[in-house]
Amino acid sequence: MAEKVKCLIIGSGPAGYTAAVYAARAELAPVLYTGAEMGGQLMITTDVENYPGYPDGVMGPQMMEDFRKQAARFGTDIRMGVIKEVDFTGPIHKAIADDGTEILADSIIISTGASAKWLGIESEQKFMNKGVSACAVCDGFFFKGLDVALVGAGDTAAEEATYLAKLCPTVHMFVRRDEMRASKIMQERVKNTENIIIHWNTSTEEILGNEEVEGVRVVNNKTGEKKEIPVKGFFVAIGHKPNTDMFKGWLDMDETGYLICKPDTAKTNIEGVFASGDARDKVYRQAVTAAGTGCMAALDAERYLTEKGLI
Ligand code: NDP
Repeated sequence: MAEKVKCLIIGSGPAGYTAAVYAARAELAPVLYTGAEMGGQLMITTDVENYPGYPDGVMGPQMMEDFRKQAARFGTDIRMGVIKEVDFTGPIHKAIADDGTEILADSIIISTGASAKWLGIESEQKFMNKGVSACAVCDGFFFKGLDVALVGAGDTAAEEATYLAKLCPTVHMFVRRDEMRASKIMQERVKNTENIIIHWNTSTEEILGNEEVEGVRVVNNKTGEKKEIPVKGFFVAIGHKPNTDMFKGWLDMDETGYLICKPDTAKTNIEGVFASGDARDKVYRQAVTAAGTGCMAALDAERYLTEKGLI
């Protein structure tokens, strides 16, 4: 038998938990499904220095534990599970969890976040978890004392290169252009770290090895010159894709899959369905902006339920 809820929140990053705090305090009795990666992307981050309220910085996982506790304190029903399917045909929205639970929700807040992107070369798949990783903070430890390579030039890449440089003798960083996208302060940190070697205008052709990664073949995009560099680990840090596949055909999204909201709101094209966090934000993608849109989504949901006489 289907379970009936006033407010279903999908996802457990800063957006989902913030939506939960607001929805629970508004007595919407929210049910939150954490998704496969409870806590979201911040669980694989080290120091967060730019979230207001933590003057000395905080570790990502600790911050998400704080968020979770705050959401739980006001009575959010937090469930470790994944929503697999939705049906937005009727006025009451349907969602099905991976354990088969069917939920009928008057309102839904989507906070499904985004996931790491991959280069798409064959060897990347071949060596997945055998030396290839998209998370230096998760897997860097396994390469302690070994030389590694990392591809990417955004804040994530800069952060991960700096992290790896504390564990590994040499970190080769492959930047496909002649400049980095990362913020100035992060770039400076990378440039000032002696054991990070930045290879400008460089793309990865293939990851080399038999059973495990033994090196990487790269090409200079300007000169065409190729070289092989021996490394034991290869980290991909080239950005993210929004986790919105399940909403294709139901919700308006851009060509990359970012959900489109009505201006200055969290409202999607379906009444009673709201979007927050990285699933709808390709521009800012910060924990604090995700929390902000999570708050917006809960306030919009509360107003919607009030207007419809559902609370
Ligand atoms: P970004 O989209 O900002 O950067 C992706 C990087 O990967 C770009 O430099 C891009 O190159 C490069 N890239 C993309 N595809 C390829 C490819 N096929 N081969 C080689 N390089 C490639 O993603 P991030 O994950 O770094 O950051 C996402 C957001 O999160 C940003 O807004 C960032 O500021 C924020 N963030 C903040 C942190 C903090 O403040 N502590 C930490 C981490 C992230 P190109 O520049 O040429 O397009």
